[in-house]
Amino acid sequence: MTEKPLKLLFMSTPVAPLGSGFGGGVELTLLNITKALQDRSHEVEVVAPLGSELDSISIVEIPGEWQPIAQNQGRNLPIILPENSVLANIWEYGRSVQHQYDAIVNFAYDWLPFYLTPFFQTPIAHWVSMGSLTSALDRVICEVMNRYPGTVGFYTHTQAATFNCEGSYACLGSGLQMSRYQFCPQPEDKLAWMGRISPEKGLEDAVEAAQKTGISLEIFGKIQDENYWQNILESYPDAPINYIGFLDTDRLQERLRHCRGLLMTHRWVEAFGNVAIEALACGVPVIAYRRGGPAEIVCNGETGWLVEPDSVEGLVEAIANLDQIDRENCRQQAEMEYSLEALGDRVEWWLLQIRDG
Ligand code: UDP
Repeated sequence: MTEKPLKLLFMSTPVAPLGSGFGGGVELTLLNITKALQDRSHEVEVVAPLGSELDSISIVEIPGEWQPIAQNQGRNLPIILPENSVLANIWEYGRSVQHQYDAIVNFAYDWLPFYLTPFFQTPIAHWVSMGSLTSALDRVICEVMNRYPGTVGFYTHTQAATFNCEGSYACLGSGLQMSRYQFCPQPEDKLAWMGRISPEKGLEDAVEAAQKTGISLEIFGKIQDENYWQNILESYPDAPINYIGFLDTDRLQERLRHCRGLLMTHRWVEAFGNVAIEALACGVPVIAYRRGGPAEIVCNGETGWLVEPDSVEGLVEAIANLDQIDRENCRQQAEMEYSLEALGDRVEWWLLQIRDG
């Protein structure tokens, strides 16, 4: 701990209330960063869309229209702000209370907070939760990286590289409350897939691998794109899949830990993949396409298998080799690299640099 605790204002993703699952991994990341910093006696105030829930943490809830999501919209997507935008309302709140805080942390993957950065007197740290998706956002992120070196944080180097910007940044990873995830030494004969059900996540490849191996696949997560989901059901009517729904962390790990492996079949450059470290924390090996964050997380042959991107054959082969992975190694990697303490070390250092200029 430092002599003077930080006073921080956390600005949530504006795509939906926290707890809904539509925000994806950034919801869990925001929770765990809050916990990691509170454990070190820093003060954190969370501002988020009306209806948000974040464990037992109190939230300043802000009304307004949710921000449309940027995935699958094309690189030339212009900047969009709905009428009575919750994003704009969150940042208007931030403007009015900024002087009570040492730093503001932005968790929105949106143009507005980057654009507003020079207009605020309190320094803003930006947590970028996805890889590059649109030219307009790339440009403003790069401008902030150059003008305020070190204030932009990414999950992984691979994610940062997608922005193709020379400016310096912090590489922060992610982390979990390890005590919430129980280790399971003896799995049942089933596989897991977790995440938002949306085209960039490539669920159909995992379903096809389940069909080819005959091993049942448990699917956990929010259906973000209903047409996409229906399409998968129609394309693979006989695949041994079981849609469990969107579960909270405690219920999720209860089921996940009994699986032989987690499949990550993303089509995009996954920024990180919180689901990977959640699986490892339960002792569940991760089979992932060698693309984006998971390639920086999984130790090939030690805590899972990295597979040629988009190769269902590769998935099938890796599934056949799952027994070569020692589940103890998986839990151990999560404890070493992705505990709340490890996350707290990285994030505290980042924010102290920003506060102290
Ligand atoms: N998740 C959950 N319940 C479920 C399925 C998924 O809480 O039933 C959460 C999971 O814990 C993870 C997030 O959904 O934090 C997915 O995040 P990830 O970083 O893997 O991908 P993103 O959605 O950010 O692209």
